[in-house]
Amino acid sequence: MAFVDLHLHSRFSDGTYEPEELAAQARRCELAAIALTDHDSVEGCPGTAQACAAAGIEFIAGTELTAEQDGNEVHILGYCMDTQNSRLLTQIARFQAVRQDRIREMVARLNRIRVPLSADAVFALANCRAPGRPHVARALVAAGLCASLDEAFERFLKKNRPAWVPKFKMSGEEALDLIHQAGGVAVMAHPGLNRTDQVIPRLVEAGMDGIECFHTKHSTATTEHYLELADQFHLLVTGGSDCHGLNKGKPLIGTVKVPYQHLELLKARAAEIRAAATPHPSS
Ligand code: AMP
Ligand code: ZN
Ligand code: FE
Ligand code: FE
Repeated sequence: MAFVDLHLHSRFSDGTYEPEELAAQARRCELAAIALTDHDSVEGCPGTAQACAAAGIEFIAGTELTAEQDGNEVHILGYCMDTQNSRLLTQIARFQAVRQDRIREMVARLNRIRVPLSADAVFALANCRAPGRPHVARALVAAGLCASLDEAFERFLKKNRPAWVPKFKMSGEEALDLIHQAGGVAVMAHPGLNRTDQVIPRLVEAGMDGIECFHTKHSTATTEHYLELADQFHLLVTGGSDCHGLNKGKPLIGTVKVPYQHLELLKARAAEIRAAATPHPSS
């Protein structure tokens, strides 16, 4: 039986792996295919496609867009998009700028409470266009200002802690549209993590294609629940580890077993979306 991992981060967002390391890890786990889903970025896709081709692993271009639906944060995964699509790239650049401004504001808040971190230290460590709170946490640890990433989140970065800054987000509908117009398939990420089932009917109405049922942080019961919802709403089923690199000394990649069949259906949907977007020759 062939398995896939459709939720992976690289150093182009808040993961730590280079494309070559991701491909090597996928090979070690004997995965048939992987998708790269960096937060608000597709920058790592070309390099990872190349590394996967060299390792004999199928590669699916992806992203994970941070969105907000009816006041709830939702993450929308996009798959099989044209990563050169100009509207996609323009919007991604806009949300990357929002992320960079937010880092500066978080650092300003830290400085106000006499935590002497510099924004440049965070940007140097992040070394990517889509920096986030994990990079601030790593910079705090690197500067000796916190003993661990957990401490950084607990003391400063969690919602309503002193350095937390709300983030301007696109709406769920905008995220779906952005992915669709780039020829991609749109899937709600880790619904069990956000506990936002109430937004699902609205997103389905807006054209959402699938739901991530298999995820590291979903219990068996949670996975069953979302498999039932997928059935009820006629949604594609996806899954992945949400690996960001080493986690307590081990990578999560390959720990969530998603049968290849789900990727087959996802690719078929992507082909339909592209066919619908291409003007018919006789029309
Ligand atoms: P951001 O997009 O900048 O708000 O950062 C969100 C990321 O921070 C998530 O993808 C998680 O990986 C990470 N994160 C959020 N909360 C915590 C926490 N309490 N401890 C460790 N990591 C967290
Ligand atoms: Zn992340
Ligand atoms: Fe997420
Ligand atoms: Fe993720």
